[in-house]
Amino acid sequence: MTQVARIPFDNSYVRLPKQFYSPQVPSIVTAPSLIRVNHDLAQELGIDVNWLQSEDGLQVLAGNQVLDNSDPIATVYAGHQFGGWNPQLGDGRAVLLGEVISKKNELRYDVQLKGAGKTPYSRGGDGRSPLGPVLREYIVSEAMTALGVPSTRSLAAVTTGEPVVRETLLPGGILTRVAQSHIRIGTFQFFSARQDLPAVKTLADYVIERHYPVAAQAENPYQALLEGVIFNQAKLIAKWQGLGFIHGVMNTDNMLLCGETVDYGPCAFMDTYHPDTVFSSIDQNGRYAYANQPRITQWNLSWLAQALVPLLDKDEVKAIHLAENAVNGFAQIYQDAYAAEMNTKLGFRLSSKDSELLVQNLLDLMLKEQSDFTLTFRTLAEQLVPGECVAGVNGFYTLPDSFSTWITQWRKQLSAEGLDLAEVQRVLLANNPVYIPRNHLIEEVIQAAVKYNDFSPFNNMVTRLGKPFDYDAENARAAQGPRSDEVVHNTFCGT
Ligand code: AMP
Ligand code: MG
Repeated sequence: MTQVARIPFDNSYVRLPKQFYSPQVPSIVTAPSLIRVNHDLAQELGIDVNWLQSEDGLQVLAGNQVLDNSDPIATVYAGHQFGGWNPQLGDGRAVLLGEVISKKNELRYDVQLKGAGKTPYSRGGDGRSPLGPVLREYIVSEAMTALGVPSTRSLAAVTTGEPVVRETLLPGGILTRVAQSHIRIGTFQFFSARQDLPAVKTLADYVIERHYPVAAQAENPYQALLEGVIFNQAKLIAKWQGLGFIHGVMNTDNMLLCGETVDYGPCAFMDTYHPDTVFSSIDQNGRYAYANQPRITQWNLSWLAQALVPLLDKDEVKAIHLAENAVNGFAQIYQDAYAAEMNTKLGFRLSSKDSELLVQNLLDLMLKEQSDFTLTFRTLAEQLVPGECVAGVNGFYTLPDSFSTWITQWRKQLSAEGLDLAEVQRVLLANNPVYIPRNHLIEEVIQAAVKYNDFSPFNNMVTRLGKPFDYDAENARAAQGPRSDEVVHNTFCGT
């Protein structure tokens, strides 16, 4: 009798030509221990949660056992990192175990172990991940999902029982990451830079079939693919901006064709609003500052366009023209997506000169008053209907008096649009979060785990962030910004 497929793998990337990956078994770790399993996600993927939490499941999550139906590989890619070209990257510390078709939406998902040991693409790295970055990625990726932002997900986190050598010795961890796929702009760049046109075409066809099936019906499928990716990225970045999320390492190898946010290294949510905010310790010039994120996305997309040029038209001049048009189109698509995002945050039905001016004036006020990004929007929502007391963050967060004229204009605009303020308020409370993964709280969670082996703060934080719009008076501190002595200025890749 065949063993039940513990993880119902159905692998396709491994059937692509050999130059796309290297077969790679995860390395053995000595004393793994389970931190957390994502029950909902396991169920969506058709994985038995009880098995996943068992000793056998742990061995798979730690990379010590490879299931019969798994085809573990490390995939190859290249990329522009902080603007500089690197022709040879790849999964240096990640192993793709295989793909699973979701029971929830029938889409195909990668299941990958991150921190699973050396691969041919490790370039002097140890292939390992310290526990801190594993916890950070688990927290932020699941919070993003709950906030409605397309994101890779976290199926499980384990400790390895082995130290990882960084500036100090740190406990090691492995994250089981789930993504619609890990194909990056850098994956296209890898083959494009080698002028391996058949590979670029194979990859494009694969991406169309897996992520953009509608493009296959278009007159020019590759143009439709490029436009589809541009559209999804514009929407994604608009969501980041609407939440004050700063990615930190928007290299072309960290942007997925499927449109999910990936690689939660030195990322952070802004506390105090400032467009120039940067967290990443390695981003000396502020290349990936909050306000630069849309521009950088377009720059990254121009590299995807360049890789696709040979597929866009036989006539190179025409092909370049198509590519340029598509990339130039990003600006308007992004502007519309951003306006829609801000309209949802403030309750406007449609964009107009008035609504756009109100958005800009609010941000100017927030900048001047050094307002907390998240709490400002939430408090506005809570206070929208005068006299109607919504218990929430307004219990501890007060908008400065200088906001009062703006608030009057805002209410007037909503009324002019014929909207019922109580109804608007309901929508705003469901769209402006109370809880975001604030950096100082993530640091606390990591300290408790690393120093005291205490994972209850981590588990509490993950649970709380699963309901980011529901205020809970017992968790008021988790909604607050950092005190001045708690502010975290830098975040690290932890690589
Ligand atoms: P990242 O900054 O996480 O996007 O990683 C950039 C590149 O460095 C990717 O090719 C990673 O696989 C690789 N890398 C990062 N950390 C390590 C590590 N500890 N060992 C080996 N490769 C790594
Ligand atoms: Mg990366």
